[in-house]
Amino acid sequence: MKSFTYVIIGGGVASAKAAVAIRAVDKEGSIALLCGEKWNPTDRPPLSKDFLTNPNMKPDDPESKAPEWYPNNNVTLVTGDRILSIDPVAQTVTSEKGQEYQFQKLLLATGASAIKPSKSFDSGAKVFTLRTVDDAIAIREAIQTSKSGICVGSGFVGLEVAASAVQNGCAMTILSQDATPWSHVASPATGKWVQEQCEQKGIRFEMGSSVVEVGWTGSRAYAVNSHNNRFEADFLVYGVGAKPNLELAALAGLEFADGAIRVNDTLQSSNPNIFAAGDCAAILEPVTGESWRTQHYVDASAQGTLAGTNMAGNMEKYQGIAYFFSDVFDIHMAVRGYPKNSKPVKRLGNQSSGTFVELSARENGELASALVICSDYNDLDPISDKIEPLIRQKVQASSISEPEIGLK
Ligand SMILES: Cc1cc2nc3c(=O)[nH]c(=O)nc-3n(C[C@H](O)[C@H](O)[C@H](O)COP(=O)(O)OP(=O)(O)OC[C@H]3O[C@@H](n4cnc5c(N)ncnc54)[C@H](O)[C@@H]3O)c2cc1C
Repeated sequence: MKSFTYVIIGGGVASAKAAVAIRAVDKEGSIALLCGEKWNPTDRPPLSKDFLTNPNMKPDDPESKAPEWYPNNNVTLVTGDRILSIDPVAQTVTSEKGQEYQFQKLLLATGASAIKPSKSFDSGAKVFTLRTVDDAIAIREAIQTSKSGICVGSGFVGLEVAASAVQNGCAMTILSQDATPWSHVASPATGKWVQEQCEQKGIRFEMGSSVVEVGWTGSRAYAVNSHNNRFEADFLVYGVGAKPNLELAALAGLEFADGAIRVNDTLQSSNPNIFAAGDCAAILEPVTGESWRTQHYVDASAQGTLAGTNMAGNMEKYQGIAYFFSDVFDIHMAVRGYPKNSKPVKRLGNQSSGTFVELSARENGELASALVICSDYNDLDPISDKIEPLIRQKVQASSISEPEIGLK
C-alpha cells in the first residue's frame, strides 16, 4: 500500500487544478493524482470545437497541465487505472489493477460520463457519444471521412459538434425533442434565432420529437424518432447530456444533492476528510444557498482550485457565480448565474447585430442569470463581467439598462 497526504481521483480540469492548489499551499505533502483514463487530466471544451475542426491538434494538446508539471512538482500521476473501491474508515482506495492508496485527505473529482443511448452501448463504429479524448479522436475521423452526420440533442454538445462538422463539409442534421435549441438556458425566441443562424450555415433541424432508437447497419448510422421518422447518415453523435460518476461516493456513504455529491461551502462532503469538486459535486450556490451541480468548465476549474486549497488547510468559502460558455460558428455565448427557477424577463441589445443579452429573473424579480450572446468573442467577458456583481447584489432585472452592462 502507498500512503499519501492527498489523493485526488479524477482526470479532468478539477483534479489538475486541485493538485496545483495543494502544491501552492503545501510544498511538502505527498500528492497522488489517480486517473481512470489513459490520458493525463484534460480540458474538455476543445473536444467539441477546435479539436474537431483542426486536424493538426494533437490528442495531448487539450491537457490541463504540461506533462512535466507533475514530476517537477512531486505529484505522483497514475493514468489508465480506475479506482474501484473506497474504505472511508481505513481511508484507502483500491484500483482496478489492485493498487491500494491511503489518504489523509481525498478529493473526488470523478466528473461525469456521457449519457448513452442504452446501457450496453459502446461509443464507436458509426454512433458516438462525446466525453473523452478517445471519443473526440473517433468523431474527428468520422467527420473527415463522411459526407453526412446526425447529432441527437440540441444542447451545447449537439450544436458545437454539428457546427464543427459543417465547417468540415459534412451535411448535418440535429434531432431534438426540444422545441428550440439551448432550451434550458435560452427563451424560445433566442433559441429560434440560434436555430436560424445555424440553418443559414447549413445545419438542418428536426425539432420537437424525441429520438427513440439509434444504431447502425453496414456503413450507415440511423435514428428513429417518436413520430416514427427514420434518419440516416454516415455517422451519428448522441449528445443528450452527462451524468455524474458517483459510484465511489456511494460506496463511501456520502450524502447527495441535486444528483451529485453534496458539499458545504468549503467543498467538504458529508465526510470531512473527503472533498468533491467539478461535475460530480453539488456546490452551495452562493446567492440562493441551494445545492447545485453546475457542470461547467470554469466552475469545475474554480472548485478544483478551492478544494485543493482547503484540503491543504486554508478552508476558504466557495463564492463562484456560475459561468458557462459555448461557441457555435460566430455565436459566442456565456451564461452567468443560476438559471434554475427563473425565466427570461428582459432582452437588452440588438439581436440583429448578433450581440444581445437575455436576463432571467426569479419570481420576485431578482436577477438570477444572464445569457450573453456576442458576435465578437472579445465582447463576451467585458459584458458578462458587468452582470456578475448585479447577480450577487440581487438587483431587479427590470432595472438593468444597456449602458450599465456595456452594451452600446
Ligand atoms: C465535449 C465537451 C465540451 C464541453 N464544452 C464546454 C464549454 O464549452 N463550456 C463549459 O463551460 N463546459 C464545457 N464542457 C463541460 C466541462 O468540460 C466539464 O464541466 C468539465 O470537464 C468538468 O471537469 P471535471 O474535472 O469535474 O470532470 P471531468 O472532466 O468529467 O473528468 C473526470 C475524470 O475523472 C475520471 N474518473 C471518473 N471516475 C474515476 C475513477 N473511479 N477512478 C479514476 N478516475 C475516474 C474520468 O475518467 C475523467 O477523466 C464540455 C464538456 C465536454 C464533454
